[in-house]
Formats: sequence, C-alpha cells, structure tokens
Amino acid sequence: MITVRDVIHRYQDRAALNGISFDVHPAELFGLLGPNGSGKTTLFRILSTLMVPTSGSAEIAGIDAVRNPGVLRRHIGVVFQAQSVDPKLTAYENLWHQGHLYGLRGGELKKRITEILTRVGLLDRRGDRVETFSGGMQRRIELAKGLLHHPEVLLLDEPTTGLDPGARRDLWQYLQILRDEERVSVIVTTHLMEEAERCDRLAILNEGNLVALGTPEALTREIGGDVILLEARDPQALAERIRNKFQVDAAVIDNQVRLEIENGHRFVPDVVEAFPGEIQSLSVSKPSLEDVFIHRTGHKFWSEEAESAAEVGKNKNGSGKKHS
Ligand code: ADP
Repeated sequence: MITVRDVIHRYQDRAALNGISFDVHPAELFGLLGPNGSGKTTLFRILSTLMVPTSGSAEIAGIDAVRNPGVLRRHIGVVFQAQSVDPKLTAYENLWHQGHLYGLRGGELKKRITEILTRVGLLDRRGDRVETFSGGMQRRIELAKGLLHHPEVLLLDEPTTGLDPGARRDLWQYLQILRDEERVSVIVTTHLMEEAERCDRLAILNEGNLVALGTPEALTREIGGDVILLEARDPQALAERIRNKFQVDAAVIDNQVRLEIENGHRFVPDVVEAFPGEIQSLSVSKPSLEDVFIHRTGHKFWSEEAESAAEVGKNKNGSGKKHS
C-alpha cells in the first residue's frame, strides 16, 4: 500500500533523513515513533506531497509522491498538527467546503457528511460552530475533514498533541475503527511510547535513521529477559564491578546502571549481596519500547543532547516549527 525506499533528505548541509525504507500494508495502523529531531515531520511532509526528498522514492497506492503529487492527493487524507478547520463555521459548513475542494456536490456530499459525522460521533453537533467544541471534538472534525473524500490512506502528524488523556484514548479508538471497518491504512507520527504501543507496526527513527521496524511485541521480545536499573553514588564504578564479577553487559545510561538479563529476579539478590551498601535503588521490569530504543541507540529516548542539537538545527535554518 505504501512503499518508502531509500529516502534521503537534507536541509542545506543538515541531514534530516539518511536513507529510510519501509512498507505499510493495507488496513494497517503504522506508527512513526521518534524523539524530537529524529525526522518524523520531514518524512510526513514527503509522504503528504508537501516536500520533495533529496533522493529516494515514496509511493502510495502505486502512485509516486514526487512524480504525481496531484493525483496522489486524491488518495490520501492528511491531518496536520496545526488546526485547519474554520472555527467560525459549523461542523457541517467546514465539511461542505472541504467536499467542494474534492469535487463532491449536492446529495452525494450531504450523504457523505452525515456518514462521516456519524463515524466521528459528532452528528448531533453538526450545526454548531467549531469554536464551541472541546479540543478532542475539534480533532475529530479534522479527522472527518481528512476522510471526507474516501482516502485509502490517512496520514496524521502527532494528532493527540494538546488533548487530555480521555480525548487521546477516543482518538485512538477512532483510528482503530477506521482501520477495521473502512480498511484505511493509517500512518501516525508520535513521540509517545504509550501511543506507539497501540500501533500494529512501528518504524522507530533516531537522528534520521530507521533504528527499528516491527510490531511492538516483536520489538520488545527481541530484547529477551528483563531490564534492571540500579542507582548508585558512582554508577560508572558499579557498572565496571558488575561487569567484572558477573560477566554481563552493564552500561551507564543517564546516571543509572542498566542491564538486560534473563530471569532478572534471580540476579537481584546476587548483585545486592555482592556490593553491600553500594546500591541505592533497584528496579526490575519487562522491556518496553523505551528499552528497544536504548538497546538500538545506546541512549535514552529523551536525551538533552539530541534535543538541543535538533533545536539548534531548526533555529539556524529559520524554521519556526516547535515541538510540543
Ligand atoms: P521531528 O519531526 O522528529 O522532530 P524533523 O523532521 O522536524 O524531526 O527534523 C529532523 C531534522 O531536520 C532535525 O535535525 C531538524 O533540526 C532539521 N530540520 C527540520 N526542519 C528544518 C528546516 N526547515 N530547516 C533546517 N533544518 C530542519
């Protein structure tokens, strides 16, 4: 359904994407997960035909995003982070104008608006101005707008930004319903692990590279065993002593000693006994997507260095986009 091949993008001398390839299947809920500056928005803009990559190709439903952007736009629905509905118009009026842009008219358009408002649970509010809606309802109108022309693929850029947890959950439920009942392929960018976990498959990006691709279950399973985190006054020294004594791979990440180990609960008493008084706190957990990220990149998802490097790049080149 969607084929991304060797996509490279550079802003002047700054590399934003370093050769990304993946496929998205029909009726799949696919996530692009990555921290600030990892290249999500750049990839999103290429897929939604707003930007041409430096090299590589992106095809949706067999249509090339670079060679045929006009044709492709009829097959995709796009929901941007920024509001695109007119708050002074009613829900119905917003969709009526959107329909005209896509050549829908009269009875056919009326029927489709009713259908889509029912789908997003806002039919009873069709006559109300969008400015009277809650944040979650406004996002659902954006969704309705993106879906009005029956696209086979829906692209959403961080769609839950600014929503409270209840509205977030609702929006994800709508995305799942769309996938299941309308067989729409959905690509959604996110920097939130709990959202990424809801996707059928994920591409994890870091500094313009694809660092992991697969179902959330397969990615976390790959780590195997448990993750142990230890706090100590001198984490470097403790990590070294653990490595020497137990011949395990102990790393220091963000001032904590971190180990990936089978049967973590059995290791805990051994390590505590081996270094009495040195360990200030200890946790054992099943691997999460955050652990997948650390495993693949050697650093935490939110590292300050990556954050500031991303911001410097944007400011230097005059982009006003701010991560929220
Ligand atoms: P994300 O959406 O994951 O935060 P972006 O695609 O916005 O990532 O950014 C990827 C990289 O490209 C970052 O290093 C960022 O600083 C840089 N970048 C993004 N937009 C611009 C721009 N308009 N001009 C120059 N560099 C940019």
